[in-house]
Amino acid sequence: MPAQTHLFLCLKDNYGVLVHDPASGATAAIDAPEAAAVEAALKATGWKLTDILVTHHHADHTDGIRPLKQQHRCRVVAPQAEAARIPMVDETVRENDMVRVGGLQARVIETPGHTLGQINYFFPADKLLFAGDTLFSIGCGRVIEGNAEAMWQSLLKLRALPDDTRVYCGHEYTKANIRFARTVEPNNAALAAREKAADAQLAAGKPTIPSSLGEEKAANPFLRADIPEVAKTLGLTGAPAWQVFAEIRERKNKF
Ligand SMILES: [Zn+2]
Repeated sequence: MPAQTHLFLCLKDNYGVLVHDPASGATAAIDAPEAAAVEAALKATGWKLTDILVTHHHADHTDGIRPLKQQHRCRVVAPQAEAARIPMVDETVRENDMVRVGGLQARVIETPGHTLGQINYFFPADKLLFAGDTLFSIGCGRVIEGNAEAMWQSLLKLRALPDDTRVYCGHEYTKANIRFARTVEPNNAALAAREKAADAQLAAGKPTIPSSLGEEKAANPFLRADIPEVAKTLGLTGAPAWQVFAEIRERKNKF
């Protein structure tokens, strides 16, 4: 049976998401930005929380863990490299580890850059990617703990996944990301189409995620640093892709 998902806003612009296995009844929260919002989502769906899958240690992804664990006795899975900074961890995982949520299985993809130990959860059977603060729709996370070269390599690992992968990210930043992306690729038709779609979604009060990885590959400048046209626009023809990526990230930081 395919996985079911339930997406909801938390805090100011964080996304929480529940992943549910209808066969076993197991339900995982991807990160726990805010316990009350997760509880409301559980109430709305009638699902019972069995697991919390943590992407990284930042407070806006982990503050809800303690109260949720106390309430539901759920298992907390977290990246090994950040386990000491995340409360109440039961199980630590690394690159290529498989995490079970009932009958569902997720593969762990390590993506250092935003934080050094950041991980993503990819459910291959359902082609669901939970990208935390690594990949946003038409954007990517700030490079806080790692360096630009590592972050670029991390994004390449995500880019290698199938085009029809549905991408869930940690924040609703799409509109601002599109405004910036248009400065990098003003003539990108896929980006213009994404802007139109996102405007319609936001006007209807809907989230702009999940997006498809195919859309991201076509329109997200942070996944396109190795395209000669992008390097040329930035005056970096011939530079290694990670340097082009670093320049895009730097411009976005100041945008
Ligand atoms: Zn973060």
